[in-house]
Amino acid sequence: MSQLPEVPATSGDLATFVAGLPKAELHVHHVGSASPRIVAELAARHPDSPVPKDPERLAEYFTFRDFAHFIEVYVSVVSLVQTPEDVRLLTYEVARDMARQQIRYAELTVTPYSFGLRGIPDEGIVEAIEDARVAAARDLGVELRWCFDIPGELGPPAGEGTVRLALEQQPAGLVSFGLGGPEAGWPRALFKPYFDEAIAAGLHSVPHAGESTGPETVWDALTSLRAERIGHGVNAARDPELLAHLAREGVPLEVCPTSNVATGSVPSLAEHPLPRLVEAGVFVTVNTDDPPMFGTDLNREYLVAAELLGLDAAGVAGLARNAVTASFLDPAGKAKLVAEIDAYLAAWVG
Ligand SMILES: [Zn+2]
Repeated sequence: MSQLPEVPATSGDLATFVAGLPKAELHVHHVGSASPRIVAELAARHPDSPVPKDPERLAEYFTFRDFAHFIEVYVSVVSLVQTPEDVRLLTYEVARDMARQQIRYAELTVTPYSFGLRGIPDEGIVEAIEDARVAAARDLGVELRWCFDIPGELGPPAGEGTVRLALEQQPAGLVSFGLGGPEAGWPRALFKPYFDEAIAAGLHSVPHAGESTGPETVWDALTSLRAERIGHGVNAARDPELLAHLAREGVPLEVCPTSNVATGSVPSLAEHPLPRLVEAGVFVTVNTDDPPMFGTDLNREYLVAAELLGLDAAGVAGLARNAVTASFLDPAGKAKLVAEIDAYLAAWVG
């Protein structure tokens, strides 16, 4: 969008450090991760779609005029995902883009209900993402896990459909249950029955809250949906009592700085509440949300966070460790990835 923040003027050295740093990502949407390269491949499979096919015109197509235009482009990308093979291609290619950034582990937010509405059968969706997950681990060294999220704007039927699909299909990589879409007019508590079912089945609760509405939505997510991590949660910064609660309970926030500016949740990067969250002792992780759509990637978000928080290489490595700690990876996987981060830092500082 037009007011997208500039890449921060961090030292080139730190950019090199971040580019090579082994990382984990906890808040990134499946369809929202489709880069122009991936969209071009999908568009080539569906020549009748309005999405341009050549990369140059696509780059133009991905230059958002405003938020409404962003939604329009997002919907047109969703419309390119018509078959299980499209789902597989998208998932595997997203992992390829992650591997290039040294992302070793990602919890990808998938919205299977939207694919279902487009006529892709549940088994087809699950087979496709699982096939891509196995291939990404084998070929690219990227471990993927799934957060199945409810498209909140479609209301309780979407909650019912998403939990049904999760519990009937039980994909091996599924670790958590989420809730996205607009917050205003859609109280988190409306989705309590579906979260109760998902939690009872062993899934972790990670709803979006406090992105486009205030702290009350974060409280709602904590009490009604028993949130273990909060998607965004940045507006918690307006409520000292909530900040103290999040810090005391160690509830991690999945902070996505550039996304917040692009969607207008935060007026500018300079005014981003990340430093206030950290000062209050809240456990923060840094993420991308919909990276190509917001003109960013995880490396860039780490540099943005380094700028906001005044971090050096060791501080940035701490952010990478936070993401691993707050993830739903098994203990052995966490220990291995933290050791990799520590070894990389040790080699860097000499
Ligand atoms: Zn999100």
